[in-house]
Amino acid sequence: MSLEFELPMVCMLFMLMLLIVYFSKEKVKLVENKFFEVILICSMGETVINTITHFLAAIYDFETFNSVFYPSINFFNKIMSILFATIFGCLLCYTLSISYKKFKEKNSLLKISLGVFVVLYSIAAFFTDVTLKKVGYVTTSEGSTLFLSYGVVSVLILANFIITLINYKKLDRRYMVMLYILISIVFFAVISINFPGFIITDLLLVSICYIMFFTIENPDVKMIEQVSLARDNAEKANRAKTDFLSNMSHEIRTPLNAIVGFSECILTEDSLQKAKEDAQDIVMASQNLLEIVNGILDISKIEADKMEIIDVTYNLKKELTELYKLISPRIGEKPIEMKATFAPDIPEYLYGDIGKIKQIVTNILTNAIKYTEKGYITACVNCVNQGNECTLIISVEDTGRGIKPEKIDKIFDKFERLEEDRNTTLEGTGLGLAITKRLAQMLGGKVVCQSKYGEGSKFTIYLKQEITNYHKPEVANTEEETTSVNIEGKKVLVVDDNRINLKVAVRLLEGFKLNIEESESGYDCLQKIKEGHNYDLILMDDMMPGISGTETFHELQKRKVYIPVVALTANAIEGMREKYLEEGFIDYLSKPIDKRELERILYKVLGTKQETKFPTLNDLYNIDIPLQKNDKKE
Ligand code: ADP
Repeated sequence: MSLEFELPMVCMLFMLMLLIVYFSKEKVKLVENKFFEVILICSMGETVINTITHFLAAIYDFETFNSVFYPSINFFNKIMSILFATIFGCLLCYTLSISYKKFKEKNSLLKISLGVFVVLYSIAAFFTDVTLKKVGYVTTSEGSTLFLSYGVVSVLILANFIITLINYKKLDRRYMVMLYILISIVFFAVISINFPGFIITDLLLVSICYIMFFTIENPDVKMIEQVSLARDNAEKANRAKTDFLSNMSHEIRTPLNAIVGFSECILTEDSLQKAKEDAQDIVMASQNLLEIVNGILDISKIEADKMEIIDVTYNLKKELTELYKLISPRIGEKPIEMKATFAPDIPEYLYGDIGKIKQIVTNILTNAIKYTEKGYITACVNCVNQGNECTLIISVEDTGRGIKPEKIDKIFDKFERLEEDRNTTLEGTGLGLAITKRLAQMLGGKVVCQSKYGEGSKFTIYLKQEITNYHKPEVANTEEETTSVNIEGKKVLVVDDNRINLKVAVRLLEGFKLNIEESESGYDCLQKIKEGHNYDLILMDDMMPGISGTETFHELQKRKVYIPVVALTANAIEGMREKYLEEGFIDYLSKPIDKRELERILYKVLGTKQETKFPTLNDLYNIDIPLQKNDKKE
């Protein structure tokens, strides 16, 4: 037996079997699989061409074969050379994709590079030549085509070898098989150089494909791997949720402890002064609790992609000055000087989401106050104006405890709080900066932190905003104008299905010496109107069973009862105010009720002359109360 074509043929059959098995299996889609698939297909092509050409060489004598088949053999040799280079190019891409995360994620870069390489190689290959010669019984080839092929493939194998060695520690042990493959390639090369009559290339390709299939590229094993990876991820997500809950439980319980504890104290307290002090602490703890709840809502909204951008025209200097005024009392007794500067070229009116900008600045400024014991906090606003675009550069610098350089990236992660042991007296959830970073990203900007441990930190926010000339006419400062107005004795109806909430609202209103009435449902409210009660203002909870606040409000309007109605709701997500104002409510008050906000609304609505219109007796007679939803129609 000459072994002219038998070996390539056996290799071809083995390749065919492997191809059928591999492609008939269900596979997970991974970057490296694609490269393995190309290796398989090219190896199949290689063995087919080798088998055919050597079969022809076996049945014809060398002279005839050389003269008759030379042009096609020359062509097929070039094709084989391209396939060969593609196989080793793919093998290199395979190693790169399993070694480097960036290639795994951005596989298009590898694919494009491979494509370019194959095209360039093909062009080079067609300028080369091949000559046939007889070595023993076997016809082999030599010439520049082979020279090019061996040269390029050697470089690819060397690069592959180096990358595998560099990533030796990082790679999964199973992938060490790549080293074995690379070493066996060198072994096969040595044999084929020394025994050119031994057609060994196909054997090499088949063995590479089989070794890879049985070790690192088995679709079944990969599927199991992916399933267990998915399970691990699910478990991790579940653990994160549990951690989140236990973290939250701790954070929420801390202010709750103060609220419950001080409330108990008030119950048994005889001294009014002490009771007031306890109540003050309750208010502070409640505000802290509210901040935590808002933080959780924000982060979950951001993660669920539900956070909306609400652009408005605003005056930055005015908005931030007000914000600083609100935040600076948090410094309390600490010897900290707070300075604020605004660059003179900040445009008067900008267009963007000032709500979120304020939230970002609040988070950074409150942190500066929280983590600084003495010294100064400086808030500077600078800008770069180009055309109608303004890049705001807002920086907050403190002389606080600072952050270790290796921890700076971590502080923007969720629930990441540094030096927990030093933080025991400082409230916080570790959500503030995570929210800040994502809000800044949502607005197309970024937050940068520079810090020297033990000396202080500087947080800088970069945001692009639109410069605008348009501005809404300033609404007269109703607060100043109306607080002097007497609202005593005005009739206010509070509608809320929750007795405790009703009581809270009534208690808060009592301080204004109003004439207050209560209603526990929308139906009851409508009934009261039908009975002829008139009000100067209605505070209406929205989410009530049966008929909601909004529905009740519309029922009133349908019956031409135009009493100013303020929506009262615990649904405090962004955009709610706009929604209620659009519905026709005169204002919006979120729960827990902020006393100052309540005061503002009362003076705004009751202190100015509102267009209230009450139905005539005849109209009243015609008011029909909608059937309660659980009532049967008769
Ligand atoms: P927290 O609710 O704990 O304040 P943040 O996400 O706002 O959560 O901040 C994360 C961590 O970053 C804080 O726990 C703190 O360790 C650190 N940090 C934030 N701002 C400062 C600052 N100005 N100075 C020092 N450390 C800070």
